[in-house]
Amino acid sequence: MLFDISNAGIEMLPDDQFQQKQVAVSVLRLDKIHPVVSGNKLFKLHYFLQEALLSSHKTILTFGGAWSNHLAATAYACSFLGLKSIGIVRGEEPAELSHTLQQCLNDGMQLKFISRQQYAQNDNAEFIQSLKNEFGEWILVPEGGYHPLGAKGAALIMELTSKNYSHICTAMGTATTLAGLLMAAEPFQKIIGIPVLKGMTDMEQRLQYLTGYKTLPGNFELLDDYHFGGYAKKTGELIQFMNQCWQQYQLPLDFVYTAKMFYAVTDQVKKDHFPKGSNILCLHTGGLQGNRSLPANTLNF
Ligand SMILES: *Cc1c(COP(=O)(O)O)cnc(C)c1O
Repeated sequence: MLFDISNAGIEMLPDDQFQQKQVAVSVLRLDKIHPVVSGNKLFKLHYFLQEALLSSHKTILTFGGAWSNHLAATAYACSFLGLKSIGIVRGEEPAELSHTLQQCLNDGMQLKFISRQQYAQNDNAEFIQSLKNEFGEWILVPEGGYHPLGAKGAALIMELTSKNYSHICTAMGTATTLAGLLMAAEPFQKIIGIPVLKGMTDMEQRLQYLTGYKTLPGNFELLDDYHFGGYAKKTGELIQFMNQCWQQYQLPLDFVYTAKMFYAVTDQVKKDHFPKGSNILCLHTGGLQGNRSLPANTLNF
């Protein structure tokens, strides 16, 4: 790896409820790698960063919204490795930058704001050419690392786990992380994805593109009823759950991804979805910086 990931350990959660159901639940704390470049984003970026380091231009260009964990991680990783970074941001430039974008600037990322309409067509050849004219040569990383190389990088996460886990659970945005896990998992391990967007109906096509498999293996499952209204939507119940997880396990979660994933897992344990003897590993994919968009005192951590 290009970064020191030795902080990312596995913690088992002591809980009577899990014990009663005769399952074990552990968390792989990828959030502990680093406060900014935490979690799955670093892994998804791995091969792009390697390519950029070998290039003559040493530049990465990527896309994201005002609170994008991906932009924050890219900016930090590039600055750490001595690469240039350019972030194309969805929406007009606001009077006051989000905490995330401010962090990106501090890490030396050049930001360019484009309208939502233009952003929606950001893979259009003419637009790409205009970016080349403006910024010169670069390696393009699609939003969220949604690319087979991103999935190949995410597969490296499995090296931090063991074959003893029967189920590995992750929050899903672009599906890139899940694709990587699926490529590196043993056939007897079940990979469980919790989509945080509402109505993601193209997951199979996404996984085919990301893995390059014509036929997907059968050892994955999506729990698609835990989006809490849609991307970055939240309810009082979700916030209460986050505060309770902090109190009970000192486990800090983010409201966009990991809280929904962990809520889904605990709910499914309650509903006897996991067979007795299951050894469940939840990925803490990071993203805690996004909690800064919440009003002060919403969370107890
Ligand atoms: C981006 C992100 C995800 C989603 O990963 P995908 O590979 O896009 O599915 C999950 N958790 C966190 C914290 C993230 O920032």
